[in-house]
Amino acid sequence: MKRIFFLSMAMLLCAAGLSIAAVRLWPPETPKDDAGTVLTVLTDGELRETTMADYLIGVVAAEMPASFEPEALKAQAVAARTYILDRAAHPVEAHRDAAVCADPGCCCAHVTDDEMRENWGRDYRKNLRRIRTAVRETDGQVLTYEGAPIRAVFHSSSGGQTEASAALWGAVPYLVSVSSPETAETVPGFETTVTVSAQDAQKALEVELSDDPAQWLGETVRDGADRVETIMIGGKTLSGAEARSLFSLRSTNFTAEVVDGNLVFHVIGSGHGVGMSQYGANVMAQQGSGYQEILAHYYPGTALEQDDANSPQNK
Ligand SMILES: [Zn+2]
Repeated sequence: MKRIFFLSMAMLLCAAGLSIAAVRLWPPETPKDDAGTVLTVLTDGELRETTMADYLIGVVAAEMPASFEPEALKAQAVAARTYILDRAAHPVEAHRDAAVCADPGCCCAHVTDDEMRENWGRDYRKNLRRIRTAVRETDGQVLTYEGAPIRAVFHSSSGGQTEASAALWGAVPYLVSVSSPETAETVPGFETTVTVSAQDAQKALEVELSDDPAQWLGETVRDGADRVETIMIGGKTLSGAEARSLFSLRSTNFTAEVVDGNLVFHVIGSGHGVGMSQYGANVMAQQGSGYQEILAHYYPGTALEQDDANSPQNK
């Protein structure tokens, strides 16, 4: 029996490039807990078989600080589990035989037990207990839309508002722009500044900048989430994502100015900005939200489904 916490609504998600030959992990014939969900993963260049129970701990440990609130860690566990199941159902070109790899630029980050010991040192046992608890207390729980696991992307921090998928990867009904409560007080390195010399800017842009620095910057168009949709630099129009990549900015939530003959970018938050903000989830948890509420906020219109036998109250 599956329990539906939040009713899903409307429209079929049609992601481009879905593979019909994908391994069907969802819907499972019988609801599966993490120990019963077998995954093929790509780590250190090798395919190996593992279970969701084992692999997910390393993902949550890699993707969110163990010091975060228990409810934020649970939201992260559900989001990462869901992300992995969606990937398993729709393998990416880079590794068609594996559900996920451990490259955060491709799938999601993952650390091994040895890496956790090294990273955490004397806090290893305490931190591992926190992560294990978050995974165990959400055992088997998955976010769905129209009955299938959603593309549960997440990012480090936004600035008041998350980004809509439409701005980057095409519209997805549950990846819309929502408010996010993190601020400079709650996120280390929330505001960053990147200074680019005229010479480096010319090289990156492949343009000749005018002798008059006042001419370097043209119009900036901001999108519905107040991020940069396009910016004109040196007569060239770049998308926010292109500018982010070109000048190694932490996000597309930035402003630009010319100071002393340099291009200076003031950036807020970190990451693509779509889906759950991890710092935002932590602030929501600090303010009393449970993980279900956090997930419903960042992935509106989705359902949180679970096998009743695995719900915490039945354990
Ligand atoms: Zn990958």
